[in-house]
Amino acid sequence: MNDPAVFRASALDQLLGAIARRGFRLVGPVVRDGVICYDEIGSAADLPAGWTDEQRPGTYRLRRRDDGALFGYAVGPHSWKRYLFPPHARLLPPERPPDKPFAFIGARACELAAIAIQDRVFLGGGRKDRQYQGRRDGAFIVAVNCGQPAGTCFCASMDAGPRARSGFDIALTELLGAEGHRFLAEPGTARGARVLDDVECQTARACDIAAASAAAERAAASMGRAMPGGDLRELLTESYGHPRWDDVAARCLTCGNCTMVCPTCFCFSVEDVSGLSSGDPGGNPERRRSWDSCFTVDHSYLHGGAARVSARSRYRQWLTHKLATWQDQFGTPGCVGCGRCITWCPAGIDITEEVAGIAAPHS
Ligand code: SF4
Ligand code: SF4
Repeated sequence: MNDPAVFRASALDQLLGAIARRGFRLVGPVVRDGVICYDEIGSAADLPAGWTDEQRPGTYRLRRRDDGALFGYAVGPHSWKRYLFPPHARLLPPERPPDKPFAFIGARACELAAIAIQDRVFLGGGRKDRQYQGRRDGAFIVAVNCGQPAGTCFCASMDAGPRARSGFDIALTELLGAEGHRFLAEPGTARGARVLDDVECQTARACDIAAASAAAERAAASMGRAMPGGDLRELLTESYGHPRWDDVAARCLTCGNCTMVCPTCFCFSVEDVSGLSSGDPGGNPERRRSWDSCFTVDHSYLHGGAARVSARSRYRQWLTHKLATWQDQFGTPGCVGCGRCITWCPAGIDITEEVAGIAAPHS
């Protein structure tokens, strides 16, 4: 089946079962610790039915919806990065790849764009990252188009959403209307189409397809903010001495939260642990890697000292890399407009406002 189809929400377990039977480990959204995050799921009963989120700079709150939407929220603090590039991993002796490939259930368009960016970072060069490759190979992705962006989302202005265009096996749009709770399903790959063959579906009508398009248009129109247009690479590389860097440095705590929640940030540090403290029962030493952040002083340590000792220089490094020099390295910006860095910044610093501040005329 290659044409869009429609199935009732009650048949979502048929979809999940068809994927699990093919040997995948299902990972999807769950409510935990006051947020919607990602974890292993067994069935649709584990999904955040009737929950949504309210997000502003520095604020995230769960709220009840007045319907039973299963995917009626925007992105939370987790991204799929934690499965493909885990926060901590052993490099030596190398960890074995997961025994089953992942199936990501509910990936948003901005997250597909983020995975494509990390694919270029870890797999795009001549040397491939074997740990990433072992986790990424064969991963099955069920995208769910966003119907309700958060106040901090701006994927439309980064051309990364809210509707998934590529990088998925199946894309779903959740429809909640007079005809009941349903999903429009669009296969993106042959294996996605085969999975849909195992689900009780009907061929989508023109009105179902129009309803999904209208939902995407409403979502795009309701984005909480937008990244300023223009050539951001030129703007940022020519704004080294802009006074806005001092302004943001006075607010930035250099905590690194923004880099931890970002689905594209890929910096890590490597540590050798001696046999006595490695925890290995045989007392063998280990080499480990952990997520690191350009907001830590040590991250820029060269012989003799750190290159970026001020908050000004570290924030400038992060923003300039994200939107300007990332383009030189990987051909795209390193930002997909997911808004996580805005929501989870304890100081409420907003990347779109900082760029606008730099773009504004100054004396
Ligand atoms: S911008 Fe916000 S989240 Fe990022 S380092 Fe500064 S205070 Fe922390
Ligand atoms: S920089 Fe911020 S908005 Fe952009 S991808 Fe990272 S967390 Fe999302």
